[in-house]
Amino acid sequence: MIIQRVVLNSRPGKNGVPVAENFRLEQSTIADTIQAGQVRVRTLYLSVDPYMRCRMNEDTGSDYLLPWQLSEVADGGGIGIVEESKHDNLAKGDFVISFSWPWQTVAILDGSLLQKLVPQLVNGHLSYFLGAAGITGLTALLGIKEKGHVAAGANQTMVVSGAAGACGSLAGQIGRLEGCSRVVGIAGTDEKCSILVQEMGFDAAINYKKEDVAEQLRKLCPGGVDVYFDNVGGDISDTVISQMNRNSHIILCGQISQYNKDVPYPPPLPPDIEKIQKERNITRERFLVLNYMDKQEASVLQLCQWIQEGKLKVRETMVEGLANVGAAFQSMMNGGNIGKQIVLVSK
Ligand code: NAP
Repeated sequence: MIIQRVVLNSRPGKNGVPVAENFRLEQSTIADTIQAGQVRVRTLYLSVDPYMRCRMNEDTGSDYLLPWQLSEVADGGGIGIVEESKHDNLAKGDFVISFSWPWQTVAILDGSLLQKLVPQLVNGHLSYFLGAAGITGLTALLGIKEKGHVAAGANQTMVVSGAAGACGSLAGQIGRLEGCSRVVGIAGTDEKCSILVQEMGFDAAINYKKEDVAEQLRKLCPGGVDVYFDNVGGDISDTVISQMNRNSHIILCGQISQYNKDVPYPPPLPPDIEKIQKERNITRERFLVLNYMDKQEASVLQLCQWIQEGKLKVRETMVEGLANVGAAFQSMMNGGNIGKQIVLVSK
C-alpha cells in the first residue's frame, strides 16, 4: 500500500534554528496485510512539541529521548482510527493514541502499544487527548501538584511564562482551580495576552516583546511571586525569580528559550540569580511528567471533568496536512501557536 510520510531531512545543528525544510514529505509503502497482534491505522492528528527540538540533534542530551535519524520517519504523539485489526482488544473504528506515532498517513502498529480513547470524555474533541487531556494537561496539573506547593486559602500569586502556549494556558487556569488567588501570564503577543485575561481567567498578562517585564511584574504582583510555572527560562525567568518571595517555588517545566543552544538541561541560572534563589530558599527542582505516570489515569479523569464542566478553557492551533507538520513545528517554536499546536492529517 502506498502512503505518505515525513522524514528528518537535515539537522539544524545544536545551536541552529529549526526550519520546516529540516523535514521532507515522501511517498513510501507499507505491507498490504497485517500480522497477528497488529492493527492498520489511519492517522488523524499529530502533536508537535518543543521537546522534539532535541530529537533533531544527533545526541538528544537526554536519556529518555532518542534522536530522529536522517531520512527516517519522525514520530511523536499521535491519534488515529483503526482500519483493520488482528489485535484482540482493538476493533475497526476504534480511536487510539500513541506517544511514538509515526508521521505517516497510514501505519501498521503493534496493537499492544496503543491506548484506546473514549471521545465522550472530551466532548468529542479527540485531539484534546494530545493536549489538555493528554501529556500537556498532565504536565500542567502534575507540575503544579508535585512542585508548586499551591494551597487553597494561602493567598498565593502565580506567574506563568510561555503562558499562551499549550502547557502555560492550562497551568494558569489549574493554578487558579487549585487555589492561587492571583495568576499573571507572560506571552509574546497582545492577542495572546488578551485571550489569557478575557477567556482563560488570568488576572493580567504581560507582552514580553513590548513591555518591561520587571516593571509590569512589580505593578501586577505587589505581594511578590509565590509560584512560578516556568516554560521558557532565560531572561524572562531571571526577571521573575528576582521578584519571588522567600520560601517560594519554581515549577521547572521547560526552558524553550534555551533549546537552540548547546547548554545542559536544566541550564544553570546566572550567578546573581542563583544567589537570590539560594538566599530566598526558592525551590527549583527538575520536573519531568514521565516520572509521574502512576498518576496518569486519575489526573486525566480530573482534566476531562474540568473540560466537561467548562472550568478548563482549551485552545488549539490546527494546521492541516501531513505536508505541513514541519512548518507547524517551526511556527510553534516561534510563537505562532495559541494553546496546543496540532496537525490534522485526515478527517
Ligand atoms: P508551547 O508553549 O505551546 O509552544 C512554545 C511557545 O514558547 C511559543 O508559542 C512561544 O510563545 C514561546 N517561546 C518560544 N521561544 C521563546 C523564547 N525565546 N522566549 C519566551 N517564549 C518563547 O509548548 P508546550 O508544549 O506548552 O511546552 C512549553 C514548555 O513545557 C516547553 O519548554 C516544553 O519543553 C515544556 N514541557 C515540559 C514537560 C515536562 O515534563 N517537564 C512536558 C511537556 C512540555 P510566545 O509567543 O509567548 O513567545
